[in-house]
Amino acid sequence: MAKRILITGAAGFLGSHLCDRFIKEDFRVIGMDNLITGDLKNIEHLFGNENFEFLHHDVTRFVHVPGNLDYILHFASPASPIDYLKIPIQTLKVGSVGTLHCLGLAKEKNARILIASTSEVYGDPLVHPQNEDYYGNVNSIGPRGVYDEAKRFMESITMAYHRFHGLETRIARIFNTYGPRMRLNDGRVIPAFIGQALRGEDLTVFGDGLQTRSFCFVDDQIEGIYRLLLSDYIKPVNIGNPDEITIRDFAEEIIKLTGTNQKIVYKELPQDDPLQRQPDITRAKEILGWEPKVPREQGMKITYEYFKSLSPEDLKKSEH
Ligand code: NAD
Ligand code: UDP
Repeated sequence: MAKRILITGAAGFLGSHLCDRFIKEDFRVIGMDNLITGDLKNIEHLFGNENFEFLHHDVTRFVHVPGNLDYILHFASPASPIDYLKIPIQTLKVGSVGTLHCLGLAKEKNARILIASTSEVYGDPLVHPQNEDYYGNVNSIGPRGVYDEAKRFMESITMAYHRFHGLETRIARIFNTYGPRMRLNDGRVIPAFIGQALRGEDLTVFGDGLQTRSFCFVDDQIEGIYRLLLSDYIKPVNIGNPDEITIRDFAEEIIKLTGTNQKIVYKELPQDDPLQRQPDITRAKEILGWEPKVPREQGMKITYEYFKSLSPEDLKKSEH
């Protein structure tokens, strides 16, 4: 019999790609979302598919799903700094209360649950690259703390359910991921730079641009999550691409990719913006036999084509 999986955050960037992947693997997928940062457009191609159903629901309210469930992927949460700065309380609630509801559901259904944690649990890291044994450097009371601490609580309560109730749990620590279906106005650096290039605006680099990130293409990320869910491994696993770049160099790459005549302008660095970030993926390689395959040049071309295909209205909406 086909396995049944609940995916929270299904109308979002990663959630929608996960729905596609699990449908392709012949699962019955239940997508859940309250559409606070997601868009039904990301999953409308699945409506009418007999193996897909959508539940419009806020996971911070009690979560009930009729019938059996084999797996739960808890991906509901705002994920971009401008989103979680705009809705800080909902961000804390979805990571805490929302996770509690998903764990309770997993226990009731005897389902395996994978939670979407993040490289942000490492905060502004003092260890480089970051491996899973590093405890992190998070400012709990800073503006980003609402996201980082919600995710740290999420990991903690997930391990408690595993230890206390014997629940089958998996923890993915996801590093910056990009690709089609990111929202043009979500403020993350890739849609921000591409949106600016498409609108003929200057590219806004925050701070001196010497902070680093390591960008993973969405197909690689989904493969890593898929393998982790089906593995036997309980402790957190970093899923990301270790190819690190400064934001200034990255802006130059976007200028080349898009052929824009615009220049780079420098703006103030947001508070607690991590200065460096690069995953150590030794564990993912050893446990999952996984490593990213799509180089940034290739992934960025695909992503640029996606953003170019959006309507002029979408592009206009993305101005901020
Ligand atoms: P996204 O904003 O595109 O998707 C999140 C989805 O969750 C949206 O559709 C939103 O409407 C939904 N949602 C939010 N609160 C909800 C609630 N209370 N009830 C039901 N649905 C709710 O973000 P994304 O980039 O797809 O991120 C998905 C998950 O992956 C998040 O948990 C995020 O923290 C994690 N993550 C993403 C990245 C990344 O680079 N994309 C990195 C680290 C972690
Ligand atoms: N950033 C930037 N210009 C922008 C948007 C982001 O220079 O218009 C920087 C941001 O300060 C950070 C990096 O790009 O150093 C990545 O930001 P993003 O919001 O994509 O992800 P996160 O900070 O969560 O890793």
